[in-house]
Amino acid sequence: MNKKTIRDMDIQGKRVLVRVDYNVPMDEEMNITDDIRITASLPTIKYLLDNDASVILMSHLGRPKGEPKAKYSMAPVAKRLSELLDREVIFADDDMVVSDKVKAMAESLKPGQVMMLQNTRFRKEEEKNGEEFAESLASLADIYINDAFGTSHRAHASNVGVSRHLPSALGFLVEKEVGIMGKALDEPLRPFVAILGGAKVSDKIGVIENLITKVNTIIIGGGMAFTFLKAKGLEIGTSLLEEDKLDLAKELMEKARKYGVALILPIDVVVAREFKNDSEHFNVPVESIPSDMMGLDIGPDSIALFESVISEAKTIIWNGPMGVFEMDSFNKGTYAIAEAMVKSGAITIVGGGDSAAAVEKAGLADRMTHVSTGGGASLELLEGKLLPGIDAISE
Ligand code: AMP
Repeated sequence: MNKKTIRDMDIQGKRVLVRVDYNVPMDEEMNITDDIRITASLPTIKYLLDNDASVILMSHLGRPKGEPKAKYSMAPVAKRLSELLDREVIFADDDMVVSDKVKAMAESLKPGQVMMLQNTRFRKEEEKNGEEFAESLASLADIYINDAFGTSHRAHASNVGVSRHLPSALGFLVEKEVGIMGKALDEPLRPFVAILGGAKVSDKIGVIENLITKVNTIIIGGGMAFTFLKAKGLEIGTSLLEEDKLDLAKELMEKARKYGVALILPIDVVVAREFKNDSEHFNVPVESIPSDMMGLDIGPDSIALFESVISEAKTIIWNGPMGVFEMDSFNKGTYAIAEAMVKSGAITIVGGGDSAAAVEKAGLADRMTHVSTGGGASLELLEGKLLPGIDAISE
């Protein structure tokens, strides 16, 4: 990647506007339930502060749909960041995000001070990449840094628009996310195995198409596996099916054969009559799924098969759970895959979203090479797409 990074910038004594992804999960009382996205931004912020810059942070949070809404205020995030940095974070509590008052606050910042703006999605112009809003955000600072990996697949005012008005560079988190994924995709240690799961084939078509040209093996589990099993002529009972994707599933299996890629599907599944944790469930070979039951997890033989492939791999990329991991009765496959990845000693990369949440819950996040902070953005990287938030940064 030939984009500028934070190391290429002269930041001494400068005001630096940093787009971070602080779209963190919160409970009803606005307590942050997972602060990984905040801790992931600390290397960039600390580097700026250690080099005598002042830092202005901006992020969106939730979906306020272009209007100020108290429950999406950045105030709790500013507070948590202040605890993590062990220094004051000045909260520019203005629903306009930028105003004369906020500009004056920015101008009075001294090197080593941190300020956080209100939720950028309180302004309608944010998601429309509005020029004036972008310009007013840019007017707060001398330099712009994009460290919001999770938003990089969007072209909004606070990540793409601002880059037109300021010298720009990538922060450490984005550099790391794109670097690790890029290296794995472009020069993988082999065997290179992709594990895909989750509910829908339709969400992963682009990923499968792109990975078929790169990997040695694709393992498919989760709800999406049933459309493939059906395409192979098996009866799948009441399992998830995307009828309109059956031909595509056949084409993808054919394409895999053409490229010499092993496409591996579950050989047994855990079936239940209802989509409920306490529904009676048992294990069956994929050839004998009862007509009134649905597959909600991969079975032990599939786990053993997938484990044997994973144990031989040198690079593994995983996106999407193997079953309905939110329910204890159907989480075994997902957790077994996470464990097998850790044990393999391979380079292990977990896409964001549900698989990242599962790895966190299993306490295995620290033992993976990389767990991405962005679900949508990492999927688009796997599809081989250019992310607008990264593309916009100076070369
Ligand atoms: P995705 O957002 O496409 O990655 O899908 C994740 C969702 O897929 C999770 O909420 C899982 O509960 C769900 N899922 C995984 N396996 C199955 C399955 N066999 N049947 C129904 N839903 C599933």
